[in-house]
Amino acid sequence: MRQLTYDGVPIPGLNDLVRTAIRLHPAPGEPRPDESHFGGPLLWPGEEPWPECPVTWPPDPDASDDAWRSGHPLDGPVPVMVSAAQFFRDDFPELPFPEGTDVLQILFCPLEHDSPYHRGPAVRLVWRDSAEVGDIAVPPPAPEGAEAGFLPEQCVFEPCSIDELPRLCDFPQETRAALGIPEGASDDPEGWPELDHYSKIGGWTAWSGADRVDLGCRECGAELRQTIALATEEHEVGCGCEVTEGEPAGWSFFHQGVLNIFTCPADVTHPVKVRID
Ligand SMILES: [Zn+2]
Ligand SMILES: [Zn+2]
Repeated sequence: MRQLTYDGVPIPGLNDLVRTAIRLHPAPGEPRPDESHFGGPLLWPGEEPWPECPVTWPPDPDASDDAWRSGHPLDGPVPVMVSAAQFFRDDFPELPFPEGTDVLQILFCPLEHDSPYHRGPAVRLVWRDSAEVGDIAVPPPAPEGAEAGFLPEQCVFEPCSIDELPRLCDFPQETRAALGIPEGASDDPEGWPELDHYSKIGGWTAWSGADRVDLGCRECGAELRQTIALATEEHEVGCGCEVTEGEPAGWSFFHQGVLNIFTCPADVTHPVKVRID
């Protein structure tokens, strides 16, 4: 790696800052319920109620989502959620599966919700043990008024890995101190590689549109970690694999943004936060 500097000072611990992200490269397909995908059928038990929008008014302080003002009428029926993504541990062991689970399911309430930090679908994560699923549920139709931009096309993945460096706002405190970076400084170091928009697991947040704010865990205070990025556009970057861009899933988040899901490194079942960047 090229020696990167900040104001002429080499950046200490640079290699420790590298995170390997799994770029998903979505591509149109017809995934089965027992496969990883965007927007395909979920391995959801037939006897388990289909999930509904978790957003309530007044906001539920324990809700697993901070998109707490809902765009749907709160005195009407609660909208059902739709399948956004599914990831199996066999395909993506990099995800922080809790003990006894091997599949992560991501659902959207596909209407607008907003909070000071979020404008988009409400998001719910379900970590599940696939061995416990017998009969598979038939999903209900998307709720009335669903935003077309929150309903993905069915996609399968052609993943590859890519090394990423954080933006300055994500530098660890020690690195900032060692470099004497003043509070509030926001310019990345000279020659710093850019983080582009693409769907991925792990890695760093691009922070190209949004500011990094309030990423502490509501349960334990730990700093939440970038875990999943769902991108409106799949930009071509030098990830070095044969797939060039991947086909966008057809969803569209605020200003062609990326919907980032942050989880707690201490306990992944603590409430997540969602930031569209
Ligand atoms: Zn909702
Ligand atoms: Zn926590």
